[in-house]
Amino acid sequence: MDAAFNHILIAVDLTEDARSVASKACALRTKFSATLSCTHVIEPLSLAYGGDVPMDLSTIQEQLQETAKLQLNEFAEDLDIPEENRHLVYGRPETEIHSLAEEIQADLIVVGSHGRHGLALLLGSTANGVLQGSPCDVLAVRVGE
Ligand code: AMP
Repeated sequence: MDAAFNHILIAVDLTEDARSVASKACALRTKFSATLSCTHVIEPLSLAYGGDVPMDLSTIQEQLQETAKLQLNEFAEDLDIPEENRHLVYGRPETEIHSLAEEIQADLIVVGSHGRHGLALLLGSTANGVLQGSPCDVLAVRVGE
């Protein structure tokens, strides 16, 4: 049985939690001499708010994208992730993380998990969403404790 990971994809929400998720992913990268890629998914404001907001959201969206790009680059620099392995994408996190994992042939996705329970668990989380129907293994790193 081949128990190694060759290409690890770390999904980051660009919060403080990303540091703990990154440290686990980096430990696995070293252990398996794997390639490390990272992604942040920007959720289009139009998806979140639809036609409910009677204003043009494009300027705010552009600012969000610029900020996310800077933050993702800073994060990736710290982890020595080369530019070609940094992926800023748009859409729903779960869907985009799955598509990207397939595209780059990742064999492990690493996400943070808040270990929610009760109502929050019923409502779901990104980690649960990534786990459902993932094209490869998923490591959920406990964060925010
Ligand atoms: P959440 O369920 O939103 O608290 O997020 C849990 C984990 O999902 C985060 O620690 C990240 O690993 C991942 N995640 C959440 N939002 C995003 C996003 N927009 N882009 C990439 N990964 C994300």
